Amino acid sequence: MTLVEVGCELCGVRHYRVRFRRAPECVPTSPGWRPERIVECLRCGFLYATPQPDEWVLLSPEGAAASDASIRELLRALRPQPPGRLLVVGPAASVGEAARRLGWSIESVPDPRGMPRAAARFDAIVLCHMLEYAPYPKAWLVTLRQALTPNGLLYVVTPRIGRPPLGATAQRSYYARRTLTTLLEAAGFALLSARSSPWGGPLTVVARRARQMAFLNEWETAPTPAPPRPSLKVVVVLPAYNAARTLRQTVRDIPPGVADEVILVDDASQDDTVAVATQLGLTIVRHPRNRGYGANQKTCFATALAHGADLVVMVHPDYQYDPAVIPQLIAPIREGQADAVFGSRMMKGGALEGGMPLWKHNANILLTALMNVAFHTYLTEYHSGFRAYSARALRTVRFEQNSDNFVFDTEIIVQLLAAYQRLEEIPIRTRYFDEASSIRFGPAVGYGVGILWAVCRACGHRWGWRQRWLTPRLDSP
Ligand SMILES: [Zn+2]
Repeated sequence: MTLVEVGCELCGVRHYRVRFRRAPECVPTSPGWRPERIVECLRCGFLYATPQPDEWVLLSPEGAAASDASIRELLRALRPQPPGRLLVVGPAASVGEAARRLGWSIESVPDPRGMPRAAARFDAIVLCHMLEYAPYPKAWLVTLRQALTPNGLLYVVTPRIGRPPLGATAQRSYYARRTLTTLLEAAGFALLSARSSPWGGPLTVVARRARQMAFLNEWETAPTPAPPRPSLKVVVVLPAYNAARTLRQTVRDIPPGVADEVILVDDASQDDTVAVATQLGLTIVRHPRNRGYGANQKTCFATALAHGADLVVMVHPDYQYDPAVIPQLIAPIREGQADAVFGSRMMKGGALEGGMPLWKHNANILLTALMNVAFHTYLTEYHSGFRAYSARALRTVRFEQNSDNFVFDTEIIVQLLAAYQRLEEIPIRTRYFDEASSIRFGPAVGYGVGILWAVCRACGHRWGWRQRWLTPRLDSP
């Protein structure tokens, strides 16, 4: 075994200060090695052992096993996902066994280098107590990213550094929340959550393939034909309030054969909305009194689920959105690529052309940027009134606990993200005219404040102030 000096994995420099000399009282790894010096990168703070054994092999101790706490944390993240293909890297039989009981099909490899460089094919990868023994953790993570489907999830469990002794066993590298996050981002992942118990449990991180890597996906992903899907019941829901003038046009533009049922929920309109809907042969649910846009959506979704929908599309009946693109909107859900898809007015710069007022356009961009920072996402808009959800996603989130007004739209996205659902966007065009501008300046300010409050609560939830409305329903089918 020869030892070599190595540089920082994160930033590549060899500019460090020695933090610990002589190995702590730790169990040596398989070739009988213990770190002589553990150093801290002066540029980025990454902690690693140098020199290290030169071998390109995993220096794992015998029988590194996942603790019960880390398995519970992984299952909490896995449970809301539709079961798919799971890759377990390393000796994590207990994780595999637990995931198999949830319906996942499991493959395992001892080491990512042994993995065939095949197409993206895993829906989730578990790397449990492995990264800290890897010779080149970044290269490992890049290999794993290539093996994930475009929306695949990565779960990493690793000991969190504390005071010396740094760990029970000799490691090549040592992680804090910040350095692990930086490493994952450098390898092309977007962080979804990072947790560790304050009394020194391991660090558990959930990450997704980063969206900026979309251009790389085309290179990395071999075209694999989508498996045939059983036919799904598509229900279009129309949350309506005084929509008599535009309802007919909206329903007429739904492409024939796309919707199995169209449900209109009338929020105590004062015009002929119900009469028009009756003429059009829609399923009608009436609120006895006006309850608000969010409450309307709650009735829409509950009714659609009760009617056996597999896929629910919401279209505003104000004719602002073009129902002709429903097939494109639902395609990612049909193909199993997403759990919810939003039509975005902001993706192709069409919002201003479509007549969106400038103040609304700019406020939209600001709020969206804030939320992307808060939630580590890359959505271009959070306020779209044209959306598709899988029934499974709707059953997973507690949408009935949301606001009864416009903030509902944002809250449900936050809930979907908290439940690790996969969100997609497609660009759409909108038409703005008088009856289409659904929210005016005064209420819009209150709306903005409501969104900021939702963001605060979501951040609080992530940092331990657990809230019921953000907790996914795990018993959903
Ligand atoms: Zn560094």
